[in-house]
Amino acid sequence: MIVRNATQVGNPVIRAKALAVKDIISTQTKRIVHNLVDSMRHHDLVGMAAPQIGSGLRIFVTEVRKTTFRKENDKNRDALRVFINPKITAVSKTTNKDWEGCGSVVSGGLFGKVVRPARITVSAYDEHGTPFVLEAKNLLARIIQHEIDHLNGKLFVDIADTSTYSVPSELRKKIQKKKRTK
Ligand SMILES: [Zn+2]
Repeated sequence: MIVRNATQVGNPVIRAKALAVKDIISTQTKRIVHNLVDSMRHHDLVGMAAPQIGSGLRIFVTEVRKTTFRKENDKNRDALRVFINPKITAVSKTTNKDWEGCGSVVSGGLFGKVVRPARITVSAYDEHGTPFVLEAKNLLARIIQHEIDHLNGKLFVDIADTSTYSVPSELRKKIQKKKRTK
């Protein structure tokens, strides 16, 4: 298992536009995908993009599973997915506003609410070099947009409602309060 430190904001690779992968089934691509999966799981993230482990290529992975902020039976649960050279081909007019954090912003210790399209269509290649088209909604759509932003040198803090910024302990209180009022 190879775990990379999450590259932090301020490092130029985080702000650079990542380049398209030319050889999708190369050993280099495979290595980046493996390192991303191990690093995403180690850092308790539900998505991680190649620039976050210091690689300037258009690759990211997602996996909505049990984490500090997500239960085992989370309704948004989604198995591991690999996206190489992703492109968003359609977005819904409907948007939603929800919490985001990022392993590259104070190592995931800052959260803020971000408005994004609720549904998207994305096309990409998987780790076997097979093209696919995915229609995603809600949390998965949000994660995919967050990760594609990474490939374009953009962070959630660039588009967040800055008045909602919260550290983990405060976010936990807000989530618990929301559950109580439901
Ligand atoms: Zn991020």
